[in-house]
Amino acid sequence: MTQTCYDLIIVGAGASGLTAALEASKGGLSVLVIEKNPKAGRKLLATGNGRCNLSNHSISFQNYNLASYSHINLLLNKFQTKECIDFFNSLGVLTTKNESGKIFPLSLHAKSIAWALYHNCLKEGASFLFDSKVISLKKDSNIFLVSTKDKQFKTKNLLIATGGAASPKLGGSELGLEFAKNFGHKIEKIYPSLVQLKSSDKTLKLSSGVKLEAVVTLMVDKKRVRSVQDDLLFRKDGLSGLSILALSKEANFALEQNLTVVVSLDLLPTLSKEALLKHFKSNFNIKIPLDIFLSTILNPNLIPAILSRFKLQKNDLKNDKKIREFVHFLKNWEVKIDGNYGFESAEVMAGGVSLEEIDEKTYESKIVKNLYFSGEVLNVDGDCGGYNLHFAWGSGIIASKAILANA
Ligand SMILES: Cc1cc2nc3c(=O)[nH]c(=O)nc-3n(C[C@H](O)[C@H](O)[C@H](O)COP(=O)(O)OP(=O)(O)OC[C@H]3O[C@@H](n4cnc5c(N)ncnc54)[C@H](O)[C@@H]3O)c2cc1C
Repeated sequence: MTQTCYDLIIVGAGASGLTAALEASKGGLSVLVIEKNPKAGRKLLATGNGRCNLSNHSISFQNYNLASYSHINLLLNKFQTKECIDFFNSLGVLTTKNESGKIFPLSLHAKSIAWALYHNCLKEGASFLFDSKVISLKKDSNIFLVSTKDKQFKTKNLLIATGGAASPKLGGSELGLEFAKNFGHKIEKIYPSLVQLKSSDKTLKLSSGVKLEAVVTLMVDKKRVRSVQDDLLFRKDGLSGLSILALSKEANFALEQNLTVVVSLDLLPTLSKEALLKHFKSNFNIKIPLDIFLSTILNPNLIPAILSRFKLQKNDLKNDKKIREFVHFLKNWEVKIDGNYGFESAEVMAGGVSLEEIDEKTYESKIVKNLYFSGEVLNVDGDCGGYNLHFAWGSGIIASKAILANA
């Protein structure tokens, strides 16, 4: 019996593999998606804290790494926020935007996205093989041979949509990079991005678990890089929260170069220094215990760490110079960063398959004809806020359209 030769095999049923499978099968191609997990879109279900921040109202090439600017510009010409929303609407999924411009499914549940993609793929005739890890990819004349442990498949076109090394528990691996290397592709150095940062500052332990809204400023070699206002979460040996994730790429890049990395925390972003000074001067009463007085403006669970770090005594709040120093501390608590929590905790991989050898209009390899890449396996990483999924959807769709155009 002769074995079927598919028009397209996609390795990975994640964000970009699913959009690619849908587009290609809708266009009439025979498509097989091979996934090592038991279900489609396992990582997708964990995105946006289970809500799936699928895109952003405001999106430009500047939301991505420098090396990807040209690819992103072309992608955004074809697939902007509106096209992304239209795409999900066409699957019957309605979306909503939060106050900072992040786009989510209206249900605020990632399942709405994963299920819609998968079931529309099935509706259009795509086939899926789960619990099957692709272990080898080869090209024999014009046909690709795709092998799992116990099966081999043939295909005219191959899309590597394996994602990156981030979050191995959800399917992250470096296998896609290995495949690319074997086909002769260059790999840009990889490192974790959108990841919590580690610190050996012992006072953090006293506030472990405290979450608040803060302005966090990244300082590299004492120079201000960027400030972000968002959630900040204290961990016993580091810092987390959306503000930290947003700054983590630049922090990790600086740490890689052995530069000194410090984050400066403004714990009371809604109060100016003047308002704080006024509060301390007018409301302090020596009869009130210090921690009770501070809890009028600060999260009570944060006070032990603050007092341990600043060594404030009750009488200090009668001293103008000391009050000014304390106010300065509350608006600029400096925490030295020593590292990150690694790929285990990272949301995204920075680095990956070099874009120099990827056609920016089609996502086809410039080295191997009919070989395509999409999503995070490529050297594209975006800011926190829906940018990584936006790229994953868009690159999967563009690759499939190019395959359809050649079919
Ligand atoms: C906790 C978490 C939260 C996140 N939240 C957001 C968010 O809200 N918004 C946002 O924009 N981005 C978010 N991201 C990032 C986003 O999920 C990824 O950038 C995106 O999923 C990448 O899509 P992809 O298709 O390239 O890879 P993935 O979605 O990772 O899919 C790749 C698939 O390939 C499979 N695979 C890998 N190797 C093989 C193999 N050899 N054989 C068979 N199958 C294989 C994997 O199991 C996986 O299912 C988050 C990431 C994490 C970890």
